[in-house]
Amino acid sequence: MEKCIFCKIVSGEIGAKRVYEDENVVAFEDINPQAPVHILVIPRRHIERVNDLKESDEKLVGHLVLVAKRIAFEKKVAESGYRLVLNCNSDAGQAVFHLHLHLLGGRRMTWPPG
Ligand code: AMP
Ligand code: ZN
Repeated sequence: MEKCIFCKIVSGEIGAKRVYEDENVVAFEDINPQAPVHILVIPRRHIERVNDLKESDEKLVGHLVLVAKRIAFEKKVAESGYRLVLNCNSDAGQAVFHLHLHLLGGRRMTWPPG
């Protein structure tokens, strides 16, 4: 089966501006940033969407959030504020079906989202 685009980023077949990586996750700059800071934090393992998470992924999901928080401090948006987003399926606008946590910051955002 053809690898998904984020699996190719994990393996290095496709380049990305990585800002963090460890044995379980990779974080890189979004190619089409929607804010001055727009980072995607993804598991190395291919999980298509939030709906596919299992109880055994609890630690991994917590790790994604903590890595995003750490990057928010490094990028100096922790105090001003930031948004963490997990889009699941079509109503949310999920376009890449490899779980990814968006970290958006550096500008004022509106609520509710469009
Ligand atoms: P979503 O709508 O939640 O599935 O978001 C997918 C995100 O992946 C979008 O913000 C895209 O700009 C981003 N994206 C797609 N391809 C790449 C890539 N090759 N490198 C970095 N970000 C990407
Ligand atoms: Zn994948």
